[in-house]
Amino acid sequence: MNSLIASTGIGMTSARTRERLVQKLVDQGIRNPVVLEQIRNVPRHLFVDEALATRAYENTALPIGLGQTISQPFIVARMTEALFEDAEPRKVLEIGTGCGYQTAVLAPLVKFLYSVERIKALQDRAKQVLSSLNLRNIYFRHGDGFRGWAGHAPYDAIICAAAPAEVPMALSKQLSVGGRLIIPIGPEGRQELIRITRRVDARGEEFVTQRLGLVAFVPLVQGVR
Ligand code: SAH
Repeated sequence: MNSLIASTGIGMTSARTRERLVQKLVDQGIRNPVVLEQIRNVPRHLFVDEALATRAYENTALPIGLGQTISQPFIVARMTEALFEDAEPRKVLEIGTGCGYQTAVLAPLVKFLYSVERIKALQDRAKQVLSSLNLRNIYFRHGDGFRGWAGHAPYDAIICAAAPAEVPMALSKQLSVGGRLIIPIGPEGRQELIRITRRVDARGEEFVTQRLGLVAFVPLVQGVR
């Protein structure tokens, strides 16, 4: 690799490499063209360690340090698609910023994106990368996602990138009427992605649950560090 290619990262961000990833997601059933366009455009190699950058456009989760991972592109696409299916959420809460990749995919598609992360070191890194991409509608909070972010509630949608054993009460409470929560639920090795929609009518309030398939996420952990 010559130095120009090394410094600009052209080698791993070639249109062909990204196109191959997009094609894989299409093969796996992702249909929303706006979501596919975001996967094509967001420079995933900037969110991983330089040593892993050559693998950034593989359809796999990768380590980002501190025991955490960058989500698999398919999962990010699936969750984003589920968020926008028959809806246009404008104000969204994300739990588990991590490296900020999902944040970058989502931010241009919404008006306000609030993102909570419990590990300060990861949040600081994510902030840097996201500001270098000129994304200006993201608000960060270092905190425990089990509690959501009450100060800006209600949200049209909440997306959670780590799995609790059961749906945290605070998250369903912070949904607007008609709002949806996309969240993996269950212990390691037996998690299911679900979408919960808050409905309110004359008879009262109900939460409608839809199952979106089996997934593998890191656990949602209490407290901050
Ligand atoms: N969204 C990331 C994936 C992050 S992995 C991406 O696009 O790749 C899940 C993240 O959730 C980790 O960074 C982890 O630290 C964070 N997390 C786990 N429990 C949490 C909690 N209670 N509150 C906030 N963040 C939490």
